[in-house]
Amino acid sequence: MSIAENLAKVRAEIRAACQEAGRIERDVTLIAVSKVHPAERLVEAYQAGQRVFGENRVQEMQSKAPEVRGLPDVEFHLIGPLQNNKTGKAAELFDAVDTLAELKTAQRLSSAAITLDKRLPVLVEVKLSSEEAKHGVAPGDLPALLDVIAPLEGLEVCGLMTVPPWDEDPEKARPYFRHLRELRDAMALRYPRLQQLSMGMSNDFRVAIAEGSTAVRVGTAIFGARPKPAKEENDRLAEA
Ligand SMILES: *Cc1c(COP(=O)(O)O)cnc(C)c1O
Repeated sequence: MSIAENLAKVRAEIRAACQEAGRIERDVTLIAVSKVHPAERLVEAYQAGQRVFGENRVQEMQSKAPEVRGLPDVEFHLIGPLQNNKTGKAAELFDAVDTLAELKTAQRLSSAAITLDKRLPVLVEVKLSSEEAKHGVAPGDLPALLDVIAPLEGLEVCGLMTVPPWDEDPEKARPYFRHLRELRDAMALRYPRLQQLSMGMSNDFRVAIAEGSTAVRVGTAIFGARPKPAKEENDRLAEA
């Protein structure tokens, strides 16, 4: 299937999930995750009407930028962890950072955004499982982190993001999605702007929508399986 066909299918599934949940389709943003795929594939999705994209590495975004950053109305979200030494580049290349989890990174990103005369929308990534590899702030540390990030002038904290442990059965992700929504509801009492919930991927976005997701991050269902980089390329990326 072509990217246009895949997009149509994913959009139809989002519509159906919204209907089932009694939600408005407009309230769920589809973020097309184009990481690892070449810029031409992204342009193909753009030509099929897609406007919001997710990339997980600053460096990869930088290399694709000449081909895609100038497309009218296009929007790029950083959905991978942000390193402190890349905050300047990230503020320049992205329209939103959905993975903030540390104060130091937030402070640097805010300063970079102010220098660029930008106010950057950000989400705080919450780690809801005990998996070693997962990135994000522990739920118990979220209130304290929000208290220090919310006043930063270069950032606008808009919500929360999470990545549950991978499981073939999408129902296994439901408790994590529900937990994130409950956290958002609790935090929104203090920070009313905290409305967004970035949760749900190719395998489980329907469940995420049922649990209140406002942004689903879909890669494989739109672009197909991600090409595996050659080993040398992998090593180089690991160092980047
Ligand atoms: C890669 C990635 C996705 C997309 O995953 P698919 O299963 O291909 O839809 C979503 N979110 C994050 C944070 C990712 O890194």
